[in-house]
Amino acid sequence: MLGYSFSAAAGPLPRDVVAEVSDACRDWRGLGSVLALSFVAEDYRELQQGVETRLRRLLAIPKQFKVLFMAGGASAQFALLPLNLLAGREAAYVDTGHWSRRALAEASRYGKVRCIAMSDERFGDPDAWDVEGVAYCHVTSNETADGWQFEAMPVVSVPLAADMTSDLLTRPMALDRPALVYAGTQKAIGVPGLTLVIVHESLLGQAHPATPRVMNYGAQAAAQSRLNTPPVFAVFVLDAMLRWVEQRGGVAAMAAAAQRRSSELYAALDCSDGFYRASVARAQRSRVNACFQLHDPALSDAFVAQARARGLSGLQGHPQVGGLRVSLYNGTPDAAVATLLDFMDEFRRAHG
Ligand code: PMP
Repeated sequence: MLGYSFSAAAGPLPRDVVAEVSDACRDWRGLGSVLALSFVAEDYRELQQGVETRLRRLLAIPKQFKVLFMAGGASAQFALLPLNLLAGREAAYVDTGHWSRRALAEASRYGKVRCIAMSDERFGDPDAWDVEGVAYCHVTSNETADGWQFEAMPVVSVPLAADMTSDLLTRPMALDRPALVYAGTQKAIGVPGLTLVIVHESLLGQAHPATPRVMNYGAQAAAQSRLNTPPVFAVFVLDAMLRWVEQRGGVAAMAAAAQRRSSELYAALDCSDGFYRASVARAQRSRVNACFQLHDPALSDAFVAQARARGLSGLQGHPQVGGLRVSLYNGTPDAAVATLLDFMDEFRRAHG
């Protein structure tokens, strides 16, 4: 049985990418296994440079932005943002759900933080945000746990810092003003271990003196992210994944696929006569993490168990949010969605 994972924590890699990576685990370019590739080797430098070039091309990243290859996950960035950017000032955090609150809680350990509370009606309306005088304004572009997503990246008068861990490269983004974007790569574009930071150069050089050097954006930028050992294997997988994205038509094609797959899923929820209930209002629904409930929540365990028996895993909601969740990252094959929709239809007929 072919199994499909819909886990929010880690996205599937396309079959071609897995094949390429497995081959390289045995041998890459006659250098031995990529698992033992040295970060000081010329081949690694070339690889990392190639990844950066491709990423710049795919996301139209202007030259004033540095691309950093860091470790520690997006959670480390929750602390590194204030350490690197606050410089004694205040930051604004837009509260849209679980992950933005985690980012805010961590930042408040390092400095003064202003919380911008969201109400559904004003979701995504940056004109309503009080960002006067702050060093930066933080948003979580896609709330992985809650299934909310900004339709477009908000435009604010101060530097925007965006956690794009679950939607980087699933849609285009405009970087036309000072900003910082960060994303762990394990969901839409690779495996765990690597966090990309795309930062405007004007934001560098103001880190708190106690910032660990390997976590200082300016220091890592000056050292091409090789101040210490970068997550070499995860960079290798990202390279394979970016080439796959490019071959498939780039970020526009990824966005179209996310749109198509999520629309099919939301249509199935909305047309189930209330058996399945989408958790989020239409305008804010995530294209990559669709959250929903069953009309009878007591059936949720049976839903998850029966899906699992059919090879469909990872459908539980986030532990702190509950309910059910389907994650549709770049590597999710269309066949996975079709199989899931068939199962959901059968489950509804058996229990409706
Ligand atoms: N931000 C978002 C939006 C996430 O979805 C996650 C992980 N689910 C994180 C941050 C934390 O990522 P990590 O576990 O890699 O630190």
